[in-house]
Parts: sequence; C-alpha cells; structure tokens
Amino acid sequence: MTATKHTRLLIVGSGPAGYTAAVYAARAMLEPVLVQGMQPGGQLTITTDVENWPGETSILGPDLMVRMEGHAREMGAEVITDTITALDLSNRPFTATGDSGTLYTADAVILATGAQARWLGLPSEEKFKGFGVSACATCDGFFYRGKEIVVVGGGNTAVEEALFLTNFASKVTLVHRRDSLRAEKIMQDRLFKHPKISVIWDSEVVQVEGTEMPLGVTGARLRNLKTGAEQVVPCDGFFVAIGHAPASELVKDQLKLHSGNYVWVEPGSTRTSIEGVFAAGDLTDHTYRQAVTSAGMGCMAALDAEHWLAAQA
Ligand code: FAD
Ligand code: NAP
Repeated sequence: MTATKHTRLLIVGSGPAGYTAAVYAARAMLEPVLVQGMQPGGQLTITTDVENWPGETSILGPDLMVRMEGHAREMGAEVITDTITALDLSNRPFTATGDSGTLYTADAVILATGAQARWLGLPSEEKFKGFGVSACATCDGFFYRGKEIVVVGGGNTAVEEALFLTNFASKVTLVHRRDSLRAEKIMQDRLFKHPKISVIWDSEVVQVEGTEMPLGVTGARLRNLKTGAEQVVPCDGFFVAIGHAPASELVKDQLKLHSGNYVWVEPGSTRTSIEGVFAAGDLTDHTYRQAVTSAGMGCMAALDAEHWLAAQA
C-alpha cells in the first residue's frame, strides 16, 4: 500500500540550498519535510577542504554537510532518506513520488536538486578526483600556488577558469578539442594575451597521469585529433570545465527554464513559473555555483515560500 505524507512545505534536495531552506522554514514553524536524494549532503560531500565557507578557514566538505543536516534537524525539519522519482506540479497540493513508494503531497515546494559538473568520463579522471582533478577553480585554485595546471574546455567557463587560475599557477595550459573557442571574444582576447596561458588545440585528453602514493596528478596525456600524435603535458592540477548539467529532469517539462535546462526564477526572487514552487541553488544558477550562494538562495526560497503560504491562508 502506498504511504501518503502531507506537508505544508516539501524541500527536494539536501545540499547547502536545501538544508538552509529547511533551517529557515523550520524556524518559521512550517514543519518542512526535506527529501535528501541519492547524494545526501550534495556536491560538497565529494570534495575535501572547503576554505570559503564564512566562519571556517578550512572545513572538510562532508563535515560541513553533516553539520548542516544536524542544524536542520535540530530546528525541527524532518529529513527523509528518499529520492523523488516523479513530481506533478499541475495541481495543488503538489504531489511527489518517492523511490521508497511514499507519495508526498505539499502545499508548496522548494526545488534544490543542484547541478553536476560534466566530466570527461576517463577512469584516470575518476581516480584523481579530489587529488589533483577538479571541476571548480574557485574552490580548488588556491591549492595550486606556483604550480602548473591544465584546463580542459573551450567555453566561457573554461576560459574564465583558466584566467582565474593564473592568480595562483605558474603556468596554465588550456586544452580544447577543436581549433576555435566558443567563449565570448572579449574573454578569448584576455586569454590569448595572458603571458601565463598557452592553448593546445584539436586535442583530447587520453589519460590523467599521476602517482599512487601519495595519490596526485603529474600530467595529462593528450592526443591530437588531426594527426593522432600524443604528448604529455606536465601539470599538478587538472581542471575539467566542459559544462554543468542542472538536475532539472523532474521539472523540465513543467517549469520555465533558462541557459540550457536551469530552472528559471523571477529575478531577485526564487519564484518559478508556477505559483507555490520555488527554486534555489545550482539548479537555477549557472553563474556563481557556490555553497554560500546556494545557501543564500535556500534562505530566500524559505522566506518566499513562507510569504506565499501565509497569503494563501
Ligand atoms: P547540491 O549540492 O548539488 O545538492 C543537490 C541535492 O539535490 C543533493 O542532495 C541531491 O541528492 C539532491 N537531489 C537531486 N535530485 C534529487 C531528487 N530527484 N530527489 C531528491 N533529492 C534530489 N562551492 C564552494 O562554495 N566552495 C567549495 O570549496 C566548493 N568545492 C566544490 C568541490 C567540488 C568537487 C564540487 C563538485 C563543487 C564544489 N563547490 C564548492 C560547489 C558547491 O558544492 C555547490 O555550489 C553547492 O553544493 C550547490 O548546492 P545546492 O544545494 O544547490 O546543490
Ligand atoms: P559550454 O558553453 O557548453 O562549453 C563547453 C565546452 O566544453 C565547449 O567548448 C565544448 O567543446 C567542451 N566540451 C564539451 N564536452 C566535452 C568533452 N567531452 N571533451 C572535451 N571538451 C568538451 O559550457 P560552459 O563554458 O560551462 O558555459 C555554460 C553556459 O554558461 C554558457 O551559456 C556560457 O556562456 C555561460 N557562462 C557565462 C559566463 C560569463 O558570462 N562570464 C561564464 C561561464 C559560463 P565544443 O566547443 O567543441 O563543443
């Protein structure tokens, strides 16, 4: 038999956006229910040191997320280990089906399902993730002071990350699979003029090379797609910047989207194109993609939901 659970506010996702929304909503006495999804704690659970969460000069990502979960529970949020497999936003109360078989009904919904960086899919990339391989220059650039870095990609993100990484690195090599970038021209100009940056065209990464003990990156083996020639570019950091995929699968046919499947919100708010449905964090934000900005949007979503629910009463 299907168990049904009703809540005034359903929060989908347990990253910084979801947990912050839960803290605020619980303190507003909305008795929120938060469904964690397949990655309890979100993206920060797959990183090591976080050095830009205000109040902590350094904290392990998984530890920070355990603390956020504890905070949400302590304030009175109900945190449930389940994954939403279907969401119907066409009628109120909204309905969400859990992988567990539970049917959630909710007066309002906050979507905080985040985004995932796209990866190349190489076994060696997977092996060195967190040990020299990263998809976030803002997060990890600081660890490569005076070192050599390879950045993969040809869009705005790759160029922006390459430029940003010159603040730390002695040398940055951008590797792109074609002979022209899709990044904005002004960004390209800055890239080409930068004395620390060189570009390798028409090349794909065959393997990230590194050491076993300690685990660490030493280079990137590249193959020229036109000639087939291989070369190894020495590097200590390997940054993949080939785009992000927002986790908007549940709502992509129901809500207005922007910039390649990110959930659109009314500027300056977290209101989506359906009344009573709010979105926060990386799911809606293709620009900043930080824990602190996601948490900020989680706060906004809880306040927006609270005001909206109050107006329905
Ligand atoms: P996420 O953290 O992506 O969480 C999404 C949540 O949604 C997950 O809990 C997932 O289980 C849940 N979910 C998804 N689908 C469903 C579903 N169908 N049902 C239920 N739940 C679902 N930012 C920084 O500020 N500093 C850093 O140092 C930093 N380091 C990073 C290192 C790495 C390796 C990565 C990948 C990212 C890093 N970031 C960092 C970025 C930061 O992690 C993200 O900006 C932030 O986690 C986004 O928070 P979020 O709550 O929007 O989503
Ligand atoms: P993007 O524009 O989709 O670019 C992705 C890049 O990665 C492309 O150059 C692509 O190559 C390459 N790529 C994709 N898959 C690859 C693979 N498997 N192997 C090797 N290379 C691969 O993504 P983005 O740069 O993250 O930008 C996403 C959106 O955010 C864009 O709309 C962008 O303008 C915007 N953005 C804006 C700013 C800004 O305004 N400052 C900053 C960042 C992002 P091809 O070119 O060959 O396809």
